[in-house]
Amino acid sequence: MNRLESLRQLPAVDELLRCELFAALRHQNAHTMLVDWIQHSIEQVRGELSAGREMNVEQLPARIYQLVLQQQLVDQHRRIQPVINATGIILHTNLGRSPLALAALERMQLATAYTNLEMELDSGKRSARAARVTDLLARLTGTEDALVVNNCAGAMMLALQATSFGREAIISRGQLVEIGGGFRLPEVFQAAGAILREIGTTNRTYLSDYQTAMCESTGAILRVHRSNFFQSGFVTEPSVKELAGLKRPDHIPLIDDAGSGNMVDLSPFGLKEARVVESVAAGSDLCLFSGDKLFGGPQAGIVVGKKRWVDRLRKSPMLRGLRADKVTLSALEATVEIHLSGKAFEQLPVLQMVSKRSDSIQANCVAVRERLSPSVRERVRIIACQSPIGGGTLPGQTLPSFALAVQSPHLENLARSLRMGVRPIQSRLCEDRLLLDLRTVDEKELNSLASRLDEALSADAKGTP
Ligand SMILES: *Cc1c(COP(=O)(O)O)cnc(C)c1O
Repeated sequence: MNRLESLRQLPAVDELLRCELFAALRHQNAHTMLVDWIQHSIEQVRGELSAGREMNVEQLPARIYQLVLQQQLVDQHRRIQPVINATGIILHTNLGRSPLALAALERMQLATAYTNLEMELDSGKRSARAARVTDLLARLTGTEDALVVNNCAGAMMLALQATSFGREAIISRGQLVEIGGGFRLPEVFQAAGAILREIGTTNRTYLSDYQTAMCESTGAILRVHRSNFFQSGFVTEPSVKELAGLKRPDHIPLIDDAGSGNMVDLSPFGLKEARVVESVAAGSDLCLFSGDKLFGGPQAGIVVGKKRWVDRLRKSPMLRGLRADKVTLSALEATVEIHLSGKAFEQLPVLQMVSKRSDSIQANCVAVRERLSPSVRERVRIIACQSPIGGGTLPGQTLPSFALAVQSPHLENLARSLRMGVRPIQSRLCEDRLLLDLRTVDEKELNSLASRLDEALSADAKGTP
């Protein structure tokens, strides 16, 4: 009876908005969003009543309020905010890839005011955009010139368009990749107006294939680093050096998409990844890479190489649609300075995490476990594991690490409750366990991690997700 009465007397949005119960929500949220949430909640309560749930008229505002709070919570968690990365994956694309160095952060802040972005303070004249950043990039990579765009995909698009519009760009079938997020090379060629000239086979392409394919209408030779998969077995392809040594007319540049932007020797950590300087030294005319992978900076597409070819890209009208903004360029400038100063392993978070010793990660696991309340602690084990590098780099290569491991019949719920909180935590599910791999967790985050884990596991034990 109550239920039918309640259905007839569901409050109106305006009525609820005026009600004292909603005063704080009115203050905290944009009117238009709050109205949507209330409408949605009223409909949900209508559904509940229709489905037989007993509620009397007086209980309706409180129930609607509760549902609105849930929507507000979900909305707050959609804001871009810091997330504790306990996946162990250093370059996690969903978590925004490379975290930035402190110096980069400071410079970004300065760049939010008016800046000398396109002005030389010395002469008072107009200058090229972020001229110092490109000078530093050229210096760092030992090239004549550099250019910065929005991301590496943009750099590739620009390079193809500027060198091969209406012409053939030659690429090996073994490198015709999808990079991720639906970024497929044949489609990029098409969008850039370049004609795809595939050569060789999936597993074997020879230098002679390139030689044979070159003709009057060739715009460029493109080499793409296999970033997110590897080939083994009966495979071969020419190196950058061999490609550079190919006899070719002056108008055909060799473009090397190096991907990860690695500047350092990673072999002491058992990792194998070519460095940008190697591509340059091997003789590529243009080398492209991302700013936010192993380079450890902000999202950017960096082009370095011979002046003549960088200039060609600079003159393309497409550049205007791809250029990076002042905040990004400032962060990048600080990042390049760190590389130049030889302090990359000390100051760039990405490389700090790569070089973190597994025994110190184990010690951090022990410290976190110690901070848990006794009943929770006994459910948490410390296990050895492997951290992938991620972000579509170094496929199949991992670093030895340690993780806190939890078993629970409600793993998905547990993972969600770690994500939904004042300090969201992203964990890694591995078979029947939830792992918190501490390679990617900063020392400063350990306290928050421990208290959030304690809270989530206590709730999990009570069966309240
Ligand atoms: C990651 C990657 C890209 C795409 O770079 P974004 O900066 O994400 O656009 C292109 N090419 C290679 C080889 C890559 O590894």
